[in-house]
Amino acid sequence: DRGGNVRVVVRVRAFLQRELQRKARCLIDMDPITQVTTLLAPDDQDLADGSSSSSNMKQLLRSRKVYEDKKFTFDSSFWSHDVGDKHYAHQEDVYNSLGEEFLDHNFEGYHTCIFAYGQTGSGKSYTMMGTPDQPGLIPRTCEDLFERIAAAQQEDSNVAYNVRVSYFEVYNEHVRDLLVPAVPGAAPHYLKIRESPTEGPYVKDLTDVPVRSIDEIMRYMKRGDASRTTASTKMNDTSSRSHAVFTIMLRQMHHDMETDETTERSSRIRLVDLAGSERAKSTEATGARLREGSNINKSLTTLGRVIAALADQPKSGGKQRKEAVVPYRDSILTWLLKDSLGGNSKTAMIACIAPADYDETLSTLRYADQAKRIRTRAVVNQDQMS
Ligand code: ADP
Ligand code: MG
Repeated sequence: DRGGNVRVVVRVRAFLQRELQRKARCLIDMDPITQVTTLLAPDDQDLADGSSSSSNMKQLLRSRKVYEDKKFTFDSSFWSHDVGDKHYAHQEDVYNSLGEEFLDHNFEGYHTCIFAYGQTGSGKSYTMMGTPDQPGLIPRTCEDLFERIAAAQQEDSNVAYNVRVSYFEVYNEHVRDLLVPAVPGAAPHYLKIRESPTEGPYVKDLTDVPVRSIDEIMRYMKRGDASRTTASTKMNDTSSRSHAVFTIMLRQMHHDMETDETTERSSRIRLVDLAGSERAKSTEATGARLREGSNINKSLTTLGRVIAALADQPKSGGKQRKEAVVPYRDSILTWLLKDSLGGNSKTAMIACIAPADYDETLSTLRYADQAKRIRTRAVVNQDQMS
C-alpha cells in the first residue's frame, strides 16, 4: 500500500448572519451521487448584493468579467449548507468519511496529514477544531485515538503506546510554539527550523508533551488556540492570519513473547488549519497589515507553487521527463510540510468554501483541483528491536 494521490474533499458551510441579511443566494450545488460540485455564475442581482469579494461595482463594471458555471469533481463533497437537507454533512459525517480512515492508517504505521484550505470565514477552524457542542476533526481524532488505545491494551498486555503532541503556528514567516504561553509585554519568541537527514525539516526546541487522555490533550489544544495570533482586518474581525499545525506522535510498541522481539511503529498525525487564502487586497488591508498579508501570502503562494510543481511531476517509471524542482524551501510552511506534501505521508486536503462568493470559491476549487494530481509515497514506519 503506497501513499497514492492526495485525497481532496470539499465542504460548503451555511449562510452567516451577514449573508442572510443581504439575502444572498447559494451559488453552490453538490451532486451526492457523482460528487460533482458546481459553482453557479452569479447574476446581476447577486453581484449588486455584493456576494462577490470584489464587490466594488465600479470595478466590476470596468472589468466586465464574464461569469460562468464551473464544475469540479472531488473525492467527497460535504454539503453543510442547510441542516434540514437529507444530505447534510455533520461534523460526525466528516470524521467518519475521512478522519477515521486516516487514524486507521496511523495505527498501521503511516504518517498522515489533513489540511484545511479556504478563505477566511469559509469553515476551516470549524471543520478542524469545531466548537464544544460540535467538535471537529481534531478532537474527534484524539478521542478515537485514546479509545482505540484503551481497547487494544485490554485485549493484549504486550502492547504499549506513547502519545505526544505539539502545536505551533507559522505567522508572518516566523514559527511560534503555541504550547508556551506568550509573556505579556515580552518580545515574541520565535523558533528556528533545522533539517535532519533522517527526519527531514523540524522545528528546533518545539515543546512536545506526553498525553495520556483526551482531557489532557484538549487542555493543551485550548491553551494553544488561546495563544494563536489573530489580528483584525476588515473582512473578519477575528480572522486568523496564521497557519496552525497540530501534531500527534503515536508510538506503538509490541512485544512478541514467542520470538522475544519488540517491534515499534511510529506515526505522525498532522492537522493543519491554514490562514485565510483571500488575497491581501480584498481585505483592503494597509500598512503593517498589508506587509504582514504579503508575508502570510508568501507561505500560501509558495504552497500554491509547490502544489503546482508536484501536480506536474511525471508518473513514476517515466524517466524521460525531468522532474520539476519543487520550491519547498521558499517558505517556512512548505519547508516544514515537505514530507506531508510530497513525501512519506498519506495526505488529504479539505477545501472549505463559502456559499455565496464566486471569485474566492473559484480560486479555492481550482487550487483543490490541482492538489488532486499530487502523489505521495507513504511507507510503514516500523523498527525491529530485540
Ligand atoms: P475560518 O476558520 O475558515 O476562518 P470558521 O471555521 O471560523 O472559518 O467559520 C466561520 C463561521 O462559520 C463560524 O462562525 C463558524 O462557526 C461558522 N461555520 C463554519 N462552517 C460551518 C458549518 N459547517 N456549519 C455551521 N457553522 C459553520
Ligand atoms: Mg479559522
